[in-house]
Amino acid sequence: MSDFDYDLFVIGAGSGGVRASRIAASHGARVAVAEEYRVGGTCVIRGCVPKKLLVYGAHFAEDLHDARKFGWDVPECSFNWDVLRDNVLAEVDRLEGLYGQTLGNHKVEVFKTRATIAGPQKVRLADGTELTAERILVATGGWPHVPEFPGSEHAITSNEVFHLETLPKRVVIAGGGYIANEFAGIFNEFGSKVTIVNRGDTILRGYDEQIRDRLLQISMTKGIEFKFNAPFQSITKNDDGTLTVMLEGCDPIQADAVLVAAGRTPNTKGIGLEDVGVELDEHGAIKVDETNQSSVPSIYAVGDVTNRIQLTPVAIREGQAFADSVFGGKPTVVDYKNVPSAVFSHPPIGAVGMTEAEARNKLGSIRVYTSDFRAMKNVLAGRNERALYKMIVNAATDQVVGLHMIGPDAPEILQAAAIAVKAGLTKADFDATVALHPSMAEELVLLK
Ligand code: NDP
Repeated sequence: MSDFDYDLFVIGAGSGGVRASRIAASHGARVAVAEEYRVGGTCVIRGCVPKKLLVYGAHFAEDLHDARKFGWDVPECSFNWDVLRDNVLAEVDRLEGLYGQTLGNHKVEVFKTRATIAGPQKVRLADGTELTAERILVATGGWPHVPEFPGSEHAITSNEVFHLETLPKRVVIAGGGYIANEFAGIFNEFGSKVTIVNRGDTILRGYDEQIRDRLLQISMTKGIEFKFNAPFQSITKNDDGTLTVMLEGCDPIQADAVLVAAGRTPNTKGIGLEDVGVELDEHGAIKVDETNQSSVPSIYAVGDVTNRIQLTPVAIREGQAFADSVFGGKPTVVDYKNVPSAVFSHPPIGAVGMTEAEARNKLGSIRVYTSDFRAMKNVLAGRNERALYKMIVNAATDQVVGLHMIGPDAPEILQAAAIAVKAGLTKADFDATVALHPSMAEELVLLK
């Protein structure tokens, strides 16, 4: 029996922290986890899960409209935000309960309080209790970054957006990344007037240019407005509760809500990390090596707090690798190559591997195949919305090094196709696969 209260103390019960806690416990470690807010973290409580449910809810707007072309007599429908919001929040409560149960089943002790680091092997709970642990894992995630400008306190972030009392008639969204494009689609489908305001001239930096352009075109056709190179100057709250948004070089915009989606900052402030010598990078993220160990040997970190790839499945992999390596005798290093990603915009995007521009820079000689088509369902519905699939191939080896897709169900299709890219399969391997007809995914094996 060690002299420590625990073998592992985890700070933060989000995706990475929960996975690390339960796997370490299943390897026989005595584990405690502290969570100051709600078990489940960003993804479950105020991120991926409730967002995806809103995306489903939003899509009914188009489905109900298109259903008429498929013979359904759909009466005039109206949308009730309160019903969807409350159902989504109830589902979040249910999942939070399940996460808590999982920890309990694995005999992980949960402290529903804030914990800070009081020493390399000591944590302090909010009530002053000090506990020792042979190892500490910091999995505190990230927090929405709100740039400073006058009136920024009138804006909401992705933390608050799921709790809106009423559906705003006019929404201004600051930022051009994941959250901005996903919520632009959601609010637009619900009937709100949406304006995306971006400091630069590019949405979804990091995604393939043609795919980004396609989303921009479709979003504009659906009625979403974009303002580029328009940094925020101020937000003023008017007497009637509405907001006036001032932007550089643009006319003022009147809005009922302003959502700031300008990236997320690692949650490292006020946890005591610097006091014990844990090194942070210039963005405030914990610097870790490939084994997730910080500059203090007893302190590890996984997930968004390390700012490697801010995606839930990556945090989960890191938590699993940490627990298996340190407590399971199975040294595991996370492979960050070919991590698939998706934007749940309307329509959604899925991508894995190199963009065309990256591949040209890195490989020189490449072949690019595209399929620009209207999904069968959209044709019958009279919806003039084209999907675009793009495959990037290394000309020297025939290996598929990137797949980029926008269109209905693109993330669902991409997840399966990502296995082939990860496995290093070639264009000839894709071509050798018989098409599954009629489907959208068959385009991937018919690219010419
Ligand atoms: P993103 O990093 O996707 O986008 C941030 C946007 O804000 C960019 O357009 C960026 O512009 C802009 N921006 C950054 N700093 C400022 C500033 N100071 N003033 C004005 N604009 C600024 O962040 P999100 O907030 O949308 O999402 C946070 C993270 O959460 C994502 O990076 C992603 O990892 C994760 N996420 C993943 C989802 C998914 O997997 N589907 C869904 C939602 C979130 P510029 O391009 O010029 O830097």
